[in-house]
Amino acid sequence: MVPNDTIMEKIRSLAQQIADDYSNEEELVLVGVLNGAAIFMTHLLHALWNVGMTNVRMDFVGVTSYGDGTESSRNPKLTHDLRHDICGKQVLIVEDIIDTGHTLHFLRRFLGEREPTSLKIAVLVEKPARKEVEVPVDYIAMTVENKWIEGFGFDRDGFGRGCPHIFTRE
Ligand code: 5GP
Repeated sequence: MVPNDTIMEKIRSLAQQIADDYSNEEELVLVGVLNGAAIFMTHLLHALWNVGMTNVRMDFVGVTSYGDGTESSRNPKLTHDLRHDICGKQVLIVEDIIDTGHTLHFLRRFLGEREPTSLKIAVLVEKPARKEVEVPVDYIAMTVENKWIEGFGFDRDGFGRGCPHIFTRE
């Protein structure tokens, strides 16, 4: 279990690292990965504002790789495309978790083809034990052991995302 106040503290510290790396002069586009990253995205956006990063937009992509189960299909598919052009923009992908790495590997290539000036990745959780594909992740809020987690955007068959804490049933 990771209590809400710990998660929020880690998001604040992540926002500070991001603010240290970007200038507020140039626009930054956060690209959230639906559905799981929606909650992390909201809190990260607030935390960025609080450390002075106000020149930030958000957009979303939908990617599915799990269907209704808890095992990655290793074949991510796009279910929802961006609404705005990211060509010539600084882009930060905002994802809930890097597990096998297939989703972020797919997204990096997919968004990279749109020619952003920079493309970085921020994740709330890293599960290193299950890594199958090497993906450079620039910002990681926390690392967890190899268990299925729920809460704070993480679901089981679509439910559980609303819990303010991260928990596991095992
Ligand atoms: P990857 O492609 O890196 O294997 O998986 C990324 C996606 O798997 C995440 O966006 C997330 O939806 C899902 N995922 C991986 N591990 C967990 C977990 O422990 N709990 C939940 N709810 N989703 C997970």
